[in-house]
Amino acid sequence: MVNRDRLIKLFMELVQIDSVSREERLMADRLTEELKTLGGKVREDNTGERIQGSAGNLIAEFSGSSNYPVLILSAHMDRVEPGRGIKPVIRDNYIMSEGNTILAGDDVIGITSIIEALKILKENGIAHGPLKVIFSVAEEVGLLGAKELDPSELKADYGFVYDVDGDVGTIVYQAPSQVKFNAVIRGRAAHAGMNPEEGINAIKIASKAISEMKLGRVDEETTVNIGVIKGGRAINIVPDLVELEGEIRSHREENLLRQQEHMQTIIERAAAKYHGQVNFEIERLYSGFVLDRESDIIRLVANSAARLGIPVKYMVSGGGSDANIFNQRGLPTVNLGTGMEKVHSTDERVKIENLVRLVEFTINIIKNSKEYK
Ligand SMILES: [Zn+2]
Repeated sequence: MVNRDRLIKLFMELVQIDSVSREERLMADRLTEELKTLGGKVREDNTGERIQGSAGNLIAEFSGSSNYPVLILSAHMDRVEPGRGIKPVIRDNYIMSEGNTILAGDDVIGITSIIEALKILKENGIAHGPLKVIFSVAEEVGLLGAKELDPSELKADYGFVYDVDGDVGTIVYQAPSQVKFNAVIRGRAAHAGMNPEEGINAIKIASKAISEMKLGRVDEETTVNIGVIKGGRAINIVPDLVELEGEIRSHREENLLRQQEHMQTIIERAAAKYHGQVNFEIERLYSGFVLDRESDIIRLVANSAARLGIPVKYMVSGGGSDANIFNQRGLPTVNLGTGMEKVHSTDERVKIENLVRLVEFTINIIKNSKEYK
């Protein structure tokens, strides 16, 4: 049923529309046109203004039979750099970029599959329930579009985010929480040769703290990283300022909080030891989720895959996606594997077969959802 040529054509067209984070205007306009042609009630929210971007989230509603649950299908419109002037090429059943940019299959695969699935439903008069499509902005820079989306837009039964690598049939049912932290360590500047006794060396404080930190995979469910260190002015000045930036991710809330405290305590203790000061700030980027493997949404996805002979791979993600925000707002949402490979690199590619399969999979989920009303 899938119109392979049409699917590839739309994919090739969309990746060539420049749409890095906060610059999704052209993409939003093109998709609005496409969704309207399909008969959707389309609107754009005002997220663009609030995040200094050129476009907001696109929301399209398609009415359907009340014998089915309400489904939300979602993908993001933005992409990472180098993501401008993309020239896709087809080689050995793969689509890839010419090599100087990413491909932007992350997340154009998601967008294209959802649109092609809607086309097939319409052309073939396939019965379905109420469907809502959400194409978000600024996912790659901290899930900003999803965070700014009015939570009332997520009133539905099940959510499907199309945004993880791995073959079609991959289901992310668990993802961690993530926080980022920033520690500004203040010492006191002094001449390194004349009066070093009057100085307080902020680099020394920072290194004492870092040497005592648990970093890397600190327990089975938790990872910690210091990613940035900045400080010092010149070799003849005792450094008075160092800034540390890092992150913590965990699948268990209590472990996340314990690590947070651990980092703060160690930095504060090191600062106190050398009579410096520290300002420690922490910000939650998103909260984690776990969906029961026996829950309706997981069974719906797994059964839809099985009926197509697609092997199911349950995956615990190490990172966040719009699915974290949707779950946090109360909508049970899985993140589906799209077949994207080597994302966020100039080697990014996708097997054409995966594009086609994802459309078939989507149609099947929509059809089978009736059993999970
Ligand atoms: Zn993505």
